Amino acid sequence: MEPKQPASSPPPPQRRRQICCKCDRPQTVCLCHVIPAAALPTRTKIIILHHPHESQHKLNTTPLLAKSLLHVTTVPGRRLLPAHFPNYENDQSPRAIYLFPPSPSSPAVTLSNLQSLVPINREAAPLTLIVFDATWKHAKEMVRASEGVLRSIGALRVCLDTGFDETIGGGSIYDSELLLRKEPFGGCVSTLEAVARCLRAVEPDGMEIERKLIEVLREMVRLQAGFLKPVKPRPKLLKKNQTKEKEKEREKNESSGF
Ligand SMILES: [Zn+2]
Repeated sequence: MEPKQPASSPPPPQRRRQICCKCDRPQTVCLCHVIPAAALPTRTKIIILHHPHESQHKLNTTPLLAKSLLHVTTVPGRRLLPAHFPNYENDQSPRAIYLFPPSPSSPAVTLSNLQSLVPINREAAPLTLIVFDATWKHAKEMVRASEGVLRSIGALRVCLDTGFDETIGGGSIYDSELLLRKEPFGGCVSTLEAVARCLRAVEPDGMEIERKLIEVLREMVRLQAGFLKPVKPRPKLLKKNQTKEKEKEREKNESSGF
C-alpha cells in the first residue's frame, strides 16, 4: 500500500515573476490585448531620445509606443547626434518638429497652428517627430545639448495646445484619472499621450491612431491601479481624529452620567 499523501503539499518555492514574451511586461499587467496586433504604420517618423533614467521607470510609456507604432526609433541617450539623422535633407521646411514647451528665447508653434503650416495629406513630405523622454529637468538639458543638431536639420519647436501650462490642472490622463507618477507641473502628459496628440494633428488617419494609442495607455493605468496600495491617512490627521473620537466618547460618557 502506498503511503498517504499529506493533505496539503508544501507551497512551491517562490517563482520569479513571469514576463510576457510579446509585450515584455509582467504577465499580471500584460497589455497584448490592447497593443495593436500589427504595429500601426505612420507617415511620420518618430525619434524618441530616451534618457537612461527613464528606462528604469516601470510606467514609462516609450516601450509601448515602440510596440504600437511601426516607425518609432528609440535612441537611448542624453543628446541627439548628427548620426541619428542619416541622409536627412533639409530641403523642405519644416521637415522635422520637436515637442517641447516654449521659452522666452525659443518660442514654439502650437499643434493647432502647425496644421496650418504643414499640409496634412498623403502627398506631402512626411515629418520627423522628435520627442524627449525624460523628467523636465533632464529634458531641458537634453534639448540644450541637442540644439546644434536641431538647428542643422531645421527642426521646428512644437508644443501641445494646453498640456504644458503650469496653471492648468487637467490635460493629462495621469492627472485626471490617476496620479501614478508625480510630475512637476499639473498639466504634464506622458510621452505616449503627447505623441498620440501630435499624430492626431499631423497624420491623415491621426484620430484613429490617437484613439488606439490612448486605449493602450488607459489599460496600462487601469491595470496598474490594481497594484496601488491604499493611501494611509497621514499620522497627524489620524492623531487629530483619534483625539476627536476620544472627546466624543468623553462627552457621551459625561452625558450618560458616568
Ligand atoms: Zn503581453
